[in-house]
Amino acid sequence: GEHIVPGTAKRRLGVMGGTFDPIHHGHLVAASEVAARFHLDEVVFVPTGQPWQKSHQTVSPAEDRYLMTVIATASNPQFSVSRSDIDRGGRTYTIDTLRDLRSEHRDADLFFITGADALAQILTWRDAEELFSLAHFIGVTRPGHPLTDPGLPDGGVSLVEVPALAISSTDCRARVERGDPVWYLVPDGVVRYISKRQLYRNGAEGART
Ligand code: ATP
Ligand code: MG
Repeated sequence: GEHIVPGTAKRRLGVMGGTFDPIHHGHLVAASEVAARFHLDEVVFVPTGQPWQKSHQTVSPAEDRYLMTVIATASNPQFSVSRSDIDRGGRTYTIDTLRDLRSEHRDADLFFITGADALAQILTWRDAEELFSLAHFIGVTRPGHPLTDPGLPDGGVSLVEVPALAISSTDCRARVERGDPVWYLVPDGVVRYISKRQLYRNGAEGART
């Protein structure tokens, strides 16, 4: 086995980016599973900034998405939330997320966690080559999306099977709009926050990823 001298090991920091509109148990179980498998010290959830394009007007306000992410992760001492993408503003590019986290945590190794659907797009992301120098990428299984190596540089990506939860934020929003329950799909505190703030009730539902 690997011998690590106490105090000299690099911190291992997971990064879970998402719109989190709302955050649900699929996100949480993916982060938890990867944290255990990869011996991560911490997983930082990074809600995306508020998209300014017209086609994305259906995204809930950044502060609501941020607070739901805080509520959902608060009880786990390994989980935290970063405002980095929200405070930068504009459209979120993963390259900016990773540059920010890198300068904030100079000593850490970064592990970017992404579902199978997002992984398939990865090579089309901005500055793809630099992405892989900033973080190790971990693709997790997601029901309905085949998990395949998108042809990243050698050793740049790991594929990990996580417990299959067929939950999406799109479905959660549609359920709330229809008056169907989201109990047990999202954490209890998030159910209450959605109802308190009356999110997803205005029929502004739009298909997006
Ligand atoms: P939407 O339907 O609005 O796109 P979503 O459920 O896909 O929402 P996102 O915020 O887009 O959630 O996803 C953030 C990250 O979490 C992405 O990498 C996505 O692939 C991953 N993810 C989302 N849901 C699951 C799930 N059920 N299992 C595994 N990974 C997931
Ligand atoms: Mg999505």
